[in-house]
Amino acid sequence: MTPATSAWAARDGMLWSPSLGALGLVAGFTTRAQGSMAGSHHPSDEQARNRAALAERLGFAGVARVKQVHGREVVRVEGPREPWPAADALWTDRDGVLLGIAAADCVPVLVADPLGPIGVAHAGWEGTTRRVAAALVETMVAGGAARERLVAALGPSIGPCCYTIDEARASLVAERIGDRSLRRGRDGAAFDLWSANAAQLREAGVREIEIAGLCTLSGGGDLWSYRGRGPDGRYGTQLGFLGRPGPARSPRGSRSS
Ligand SMILES: [Zn+2]
Repeated sequence: MTPATSAWAARDGMLWSPSLGALGLVAGFTTRAQGSMAGSHHPSDEQARNRAALAERLGFAGVARVKQVHGREVVRVEGPREPWPAADALWTDRDGVLLGIAAADCVPVLVADPLGPIGVAHAGWEGTTRRVAAALVETMVAGGAARERLVAALGPSIGPCCYTIDEARASLVAERIGDRSLRRGRDGAAFDLWSANAAQLREAGVREIEIAGLCTLSGGGDLWSYRGRGPDGRYGTQLGFLGRPGPARSPRGSRSS
C-alpha cells in the first residue's frame, strides 16, 4: 500500500516521471494537494484556478486541455485556448506549452520525442480499446516525431489489482483488442490498462515505456479515484501533465516587462 514501489517519484506534493524528467521535460501527475483539475464536463472556477496555479508553479502560461469524451481523436495545439476541442489526446511541437489530461482512474499516457513533438492521451477502458495511445503516436509521427526516439510514460491510474469489469464489457474488450490484458474470473475479468496501453505503444514502435505502476484506488498515494469515490459520489480529478520549458515560460517573480 505504499507508493514507494512506483516507478514515479513523489516530490513537492506531486508525482513525477523519471524517464521524461531526464529528458528535460516537465512531466508528472498532480495529487489531491493541488486540488481538483478537470473542468471537462462540470467546469468550475475553482478547478480553473487550480489549473492556473499549477501552470504558474510549473513555469508555464496555462494548461492546454481538451474536452475528454473517451474516444480516439487527437488534436494539435499551440497553447491553452478555449473552447476546448472534443478529443482524448493532444500534442504540440511548440516549446513552452503545457499539455494536460485529467484522470481519476483512467490512464494518463505521456509521449515525447526528446528532440521533437510531445503529446498526451486519456485512456480509460473505452479509450484503451479504441487505441487512443496508438492514435497519438501515429499523429505525432505524421507531425514530425521520430518513431524510434519516442519515450512514453503511463501515469497513475486504476491498476489491475482493483479494476474489474463485468463479462459483457470483458467480451467487448476482447473483441476490440484481444484478451492479453484480461484475467478472466467467474463473473468478469480484471482488466490491466497498463499492459494494454504498453502493448499498444510497443506495437506502434515506442521502445522506451515507463509504467508508474501506482493504483489510484489502492496505491496509497494522495489521489482521487472515480471507483473509490465516497458515498456522496463526490470525487476530484488529477492532471497528468507534460511540457517542454521554452519561450512561453514565465516563472513566478521573473516576468520581464
Ligand atoms: Zn489497486
